[in-house]
Amino acid sequence: MFNIIIFGKPGSGKGTQADFLKNKYDLYHISTGDLFRKNITTETKLGLEAKSYLDNGDLVPDSVTIKMLENEVLLNKDVKGYIFDGFPRTLNQAESLDFFLESINHNINATIALDVSEDELISRLLERGKITNRSDDQDVNKIKNRFNEYNNKTSILINFYKNQNKFYSVDGKGSIDDITLRLFNLIDSLI
Ligand code: AMP
Repeated sequence: MFNIIIFGKPGSGKGTQADFLKNKYDLYHISTGDLFRKNITTETKLGLEAKSYLDNGDLVPDSVTIKMLENEVLLNKDVKGYIFDGFPRTLNQAESLDFFLESINHNINATIALDVSEDELISRLLERGKITNRSDDQDVNKIKNRFNEYNNKTSILINFYKNQNKFYSVDGKGSIDDITLRLFNLIDSLI
């Protein structure tokens, strides 16, 4: 098992790069944002519960998010490893993930952050909003709120994983191919 967390602010390229990593290392990709959006589209109870949080750019409460993540892992157990994208985003989620993975005899091998400035991210997200129709990508105030959520609740995880000697940072600027290559080089050095 090789389990990776792909970490970074909204728009840093986590989803795009997770797709490449998933294919190269044969990992199962779990994006909590995608799971929420799928539930919102299909109007499940979970989707209805999460909708207003996503619309405002707020984090969905831990109780809902952690349960959803654990279910997704348990439903997809016969895999070579997981790539967690957009999870964990709070200390409680990170601690729960460690506890949960340990209970099924797994652990996180590496947390890899994509490092990009907020100015660059705002223009990337507004561009993405034109293509994807995501309402949380179309409004600068919502984007800034997502950065605030990251800065207030998520950035502390850098130290959490540094303390476990599992934190790595990769320059998230440049072409998609260049960033993928940086990630491949890093992961190859860890496997
Ligand atoms: P993303 O696609 O990762 O940018 O996530 C979109 C939105 O989904 C976030 O702004 C949150 O509202 C929600 N979300 C995704 N992952 C989490 C998480 N781990 N904890 C809480 N909310 C989340």
